[in-house]
Parts: sequence; structure tokens; C-alpha cells
Amino acid sequence: PAKASSVIVEGPTMGTHFTVKLRHDDVKLIDTANKRIPEILNSIDAMMSTYKPDSELSRFNQHQSTAPFKVSPEMIEIFQAAREVSDATNGAFDITVGPMVNAWGFGPEKKTAPPTDAEIAALLPRVGYKMIAVDTAASTLRKERPDVYCDLSGIAQGFAADKVAAMLDGLGIANYMIDISGEFRTRGTNDSGQPWQIAIERPDTPERTAQLVVPLSNVSLATSGDYRNYREIDGKRFSHEIDPATGRPIQHKLASASIVTETCTLADAYATALMVLGPEKGLALAEQNHLAVYLLVRNAQGDFDEVQSTKFTERMTWQATSTH
Ligand code: FAD
Repeated sequence: PAKASSVIVEGPTMGTHFTVKLRHDDVKLIDTANKRIPEILNSIDAMMSTYKPDSELSRFNQHQSTAPFKVSPEMIEIFQAAREVSDATNGAFDITVGPMVNAWGFGPEKKTAPPTDAEIAALLPRVGYKMIAVDTAASTLRKERPDVYCDLSGIAQGFAADKVAAMLDGLGIANYMIDISGEFRTRGTNDSGQPWQIAIERPDTPERTAQLVVPLSNVSLATSGDYRNYREIDGKRFSHEIDPATGRPIQHKLASASIVTETCTLADAYATALMVLGPEKGLALAEQNHLAVYLLVRNAQGDFDEVQSTKFTERMTWQATSTH
């Protein structure tokens, strides 16, 4: 049989970078995949970017009304997934936190100064995931307040990885690793027939070093952290992970949260929720919901304590020995 050829498809997407490694013995299929991957990523960018004023999400955000707003099936799908994670994390993950994200300078408008307490207090009533109603039958979204503003940056990369995976599965490509800005989805094995070896980064290091390498096959892994996307104001570090309850960036010792789940959409959203919950509540949620979670917590020695949920430890032992 023809030798399987493996290729790497990569490039810019959603203000960040993607890499897809895939292997198959039919070069024509590989070419089709090569073309379809950027098409899928560009279509999701056009639907869900808050950086594009004419994206579907931006047009919903500009829709200052409580009347239902017609959206695509993909938007219904991602809003439902976001709601599922908001419900499961008691609102720690909340896409309506958008006005606070922008006020702290982590959105499309560049900001110099942090918001005042008065500005935060004025914006907070606009935050609350229950103020969005999803009508699947009519394919519409509805706001309970005209000024609700949603930000999908904490879930849309994972969603995009799932859409790329669905396309590759449809083509019958059985070995691939999708990486969209640190959200991973895998199937099958790498070129040496082993599970894909995915590195979880050590936080706070200028060069990228691995804290832990995780063998993955047929699952997703997402990591959220406070060490890449943050702002320093008067020597204080403000993370882009915002607590919807306070409207302020998180202030705790959790430097990064990783989670292994089946779909990348859920992994991406849960990773952000875990960062908002912090080390204690995050681990409690993981144990309660049997989530495979790995936390890096800053300790007094300037190093990190590694905390694994029961499910994560179980999965790592199991995954290292099997590739199906
Ligand atoms: P994650 O940890 O996965 O998510 C954190 C992000 O989620 C925060 O940045 C914030 O936006 C949001 N968030 C914060 N707190 C919460 C919370 N409690 N609940 C829910 N969400 C929360 N960036 C650019 O600079 N230029 C672009 O053109 C651009 N285009 C984009 C297009 C799309 C479709 C998307 C989804 C994002 C785009 N981005 C762009 C943003 C960038 O790609 C990343 O999304 C951003 O840096 C955060 O991704 P992350 O994986 O690092 O963070």
C-alpha cells in the first residue's frame, strides 16, 4: 500500500496561530483537508470575532434590543455549549462578561488605564449568562437587556478545533493533532504510532518549556493561564481571566489550568472557568464532576505545585498504555 504521508498545515487564525498535523496514505484526501482547514477557521472567525465589527457575534452585540436575533446553527451550538458550562460552573464561565473584558483592555479596543470602581459598578449589571435566551427551533438569540455584550474568546477556539476534527473524521483521516492557540484535539497516533505527546507549558518562563508531557489519543486538552495574556499596571499583573461576579481580573495563586475532555469546545470553556474559580474551588468542581484536571499553583518558593484531579491521574495512567 502507498506509504502514509503526514503533513503539517499551519497559519494565523483568530489573532493567534493554528497547527494541524495529519497522516493518511491518500494524497488527494490530504489536499482536500489542506484546503478545508483554513476555510473552516475563517468562517468561524467571520461568525464569532469581536475584532470584526461585521461578524455575526458583533452584529448581535450591536443589536441593542430584546427582540429575538436570527443566527446561524453554529452560533446556536456554541451559545448552548457556553450555557452548559456556565450552569456547571455556577457562572464562573460567562460569555456576557464581554464589557468587563473590554474595560480591562483585553478586547478589541486598546486601553491604557484600568476601569475605575465606578465604571466597574456601572458595567456589572450587564453581566449575567442567564440574560441570554437561546431558541434552537427558531435559531434565534434574545437578550434580556438591550446592552448585553458577548465575548466568545474563551470557547470559540475549542469550537473551531471540533469543527476541523469533524471535517477530518468525515474524510476518514484517522490520525491527526489539531492545535489552535493551545487548545488541542487528537485522534489516533503520531508518526511513530504512539499517542500524541502534548506539552503543558511551564508558566512564567520566557522560552516555552514543558512542565508535563501528556500522551493523548482521541481526546481534547485545553489550557488557560494568567502568564501569557496579562497587563502590568503600576507593577501589578492583571490577567485576562475576569471573574463575572466581581468584574475584576482573578487574584489567586492558580497560574494555569488544563483539562482533558472529549470535545475541545468544553475543554476550552472549562479551562477558563477553572482559572476563574481558582485552585481550591477549581479542584472541588473537577472532583465533583469527575473532570480530568491538572493545575499549576504558585507556591511560596517561587515554584509551582502540581495538582491533579483523580480523573486526570487515572486517565494519564490509562492513556500512556493504550492508543485506542
Ligand atoms: P482563554 O483562557 O481560552 O480565554 C480567555 C478569554 O476569554 C479572555 O481573553 C476573554 O476574552 C474571555 N474571558 C475572560 N474571562 C472570562 C469568563 N469568566 N468567562 C468567559 N470568557 C472569559 N485577538 C486579537 O488580538 N486579534 C484578533 O483579530 C482576534 N480575533 C479573534 C477571533 C475569534 C473568533 C476569537 C475567538 C478570538 C479572537 N482574538 C483575537 C482573541 C485571541 O484569539 C484569544 O481568544 C484571546 O487571546 C484569549 O484566548 P486564550 O486561549 O488565550 O484564553
